[in-house]
Amino acid sequence: MKRLLSILLSLCLVAGVLLFTQAETLTGSSTSKIGGEGAIVVEVTLDEAGAIKNIAVVENKDTPGISDPAVETIPAAIVEHQSLLVDAVTGVTYTSEAIVLAVRDALTKKGIDASKFEVEVNKEVEKGEDVEKTVDVVVIGAGGAGMTAAVQAHINGATVLILEKMPKVGGNTILSGGALNAVDDRSEMAIKTNDSAEWHYQQTIAGGDYQGIPSLVHIMTSRAWEAVEWVKALGMEFIEGETFTVAGGLWPRAHKPVTPVGTGFFNTYNAYIDSHEGIELMLNTKAEELIVDDFGRVVGVRATGATGETVTAMANKGVVMAAGGFGASVELRQAFNTTWSTLDASIPTTNHPGATGDGIKMLMKVGADLIQMGNIQLLPLGDPNNGSLSGNVSRRVEMVVYVNKNGERFVNEGGRRDEMTRALFAQPDNYMWIVTDAHAFPTGDVQNNFNESVDQLVADGRAVKGETLEELAEKMQVPYENLKAALENYNAHCATKDKDEFGRTLYGDPIDRAPFYASPRVPTVHHTMGGARINEYAQVLNENQQVIPGLYAAGEITGGIHGANRLGGNALTDLLVFGRIAGESAAMGR
Ligand code: ADP
Repeated sequence: MKRLLSILLSLCLVAGVLLFTQAETLTGSSTSKIGGEGAIVVEVTLDEAGAIKNIAVVENKDTPGISDPAVETIPAAIVEHQSLLVDAVTGVTYTSEAIVLAVRDALTKKGIDASKFEVEVNKEVEKGEDVEKTVDVVVIGAGGAGMTAAVQAHINGATVLILEKMPKVGGNTILSGGALNAVDDRSEMAIKTNDSAEWHYQQTIAGGDYQGIPSLVHIMTSRAWEAVEWVKALGMEFIEGETFTVAGGLWPRAHKPVTPVGTGFFNTYNAYIDSHEGIELMLNTKAEELIVDDFGRVVGVRATGATGETVTAMANKGVVMAAGGFGASVELRQAFNTTWSTLDASIPTTNHPGATGDGIKMLMKVGADLIQMGNIQLLPLGDPNNGSLSGNVSRRVEMVVYVNKNGERFVNEGGRRDEMTRALFAQPDNYMWIVTDAHAFPTGDVQNNFNESVDQLVADGRAVKGETLEELAEKMQVPYENLKAALENYNAHCATKDKDEFGRTLYGDPIDRAPFYASPRVPTVHHTMGGARINEYAQVLNENQQVIPGLYAAGEITGGIHGANRLGGNALTDLLVFGRIAGESAAMGR
């Protein structure tokens, strides 16, 4: 027996050695626009014939949750097609490209000619069979509002199908900084910050120039904390005992999730979907039109699947429209804009590429009342290269000032988003810098709200750093004397906490501790505040203010909640509160 075992063992060893000498594993890395240098590291296994047998992403510094679809798809696609010319995953372009570059790096390092793997990929896919499904509730869009509605509807006993056109969940919600306004009136935090749900209501209404519909705003602010507790009970975690003021939030009432950006919501909802029967998500499935029966009731959705097949999703109880806004559609924002001199392609956006207003078009066809469509929110906080909110050195309003190209402050950094953006449009080249210091970033590995360390931002050229203010001014190419004067004046107000000449009242530590940091910013389209008029049950109303039976809506696609200007941190509150209401109403078939 012993002899037999030892023979077997030596046979295995020989086989192992033989295999090892035949197949080969190479390592390569690449820089990504998100995770920076060395962000993606791959191990590429070649078989004995030199074909790519396997690709493992062994390191990934891009945003977890957001980059996952690329990690899941690109290596497999390269192996399948034996080609580096595979399509990037929509919405996850940077990580997709970085994976391809890392594979290329691995091959080149080993002296293998990568052009051997530059074969055209046959993109023609065979059209799959048409699909028909019937559930209680169909949800259009797997962003924050849609996923909230879907889970709530399922909790209320409905079978649920979610249709998402992109290859991933998350929409704009997953890209947000994660700030969520909510006040628990009974908490010590409310006392400490002198806050209340009523004050949240007042600020939301006034901050939107009294265009918000009071009953809806009241629902949002008074049920916000209950919604936070609901999502916490599902497993979502927030940093406890701490709230902050997000840009344009006007008050320190934003809660911050433990996991980066908006990923916590989707980890939570995906976990729920994975562990329950009767709730299904179809990706790469684009809703095209609402199906209306002879009595005017919305009874389903016609969609197109990944291979062009028709997906017909019938809803016994209701359809929830949660397809988000139209910030990424230049055509629609130009058509509806009444607020800004232009929203043409020269103005970038923070939005994901799928925010094209498909839902708005579907709603128009069924006669929904679209209100306040001209109210489009811009932020003064876009990355000059891509409009994104990431890459900035602002962790919280209390820790930053904004200066223009002359090194001068020009606005209340704690003010309304529309006012800050308007002020930025009046500055040279519509360009500003966010300036902060070591109070905000005590060490180089402290991260901003987008999971990026300040060292990384500096290394990637997205921010500049000065050991002295003079060095910072030099790197920003602004006059040192002006920057120095701006900070001296600001720091004096920080000490007395009185209102400054711009109307600022939110102060933290002075900005006087080296090293200093700054990142450049431009105006960027952020949120389309107009949309479907809903009632307090999230039912969509037609132009005669009658309910369109079977149709519910929540999130950015609705209008009349934020009015002329949305407070920072209120989008997540809105989608959570009204997503739940829409889910519950649809499950009841109200
Ligand atoms: P909200 O904050 O309102 O949830 P998001 O932008 O986070 O808005 O999510 C909206 C989601 O709807 C996105 O994931 C987007 O890709 C999806 N979507 C948009 N149009 C369609 C469509 N025609 N069919 C299916 N999903 C869509």
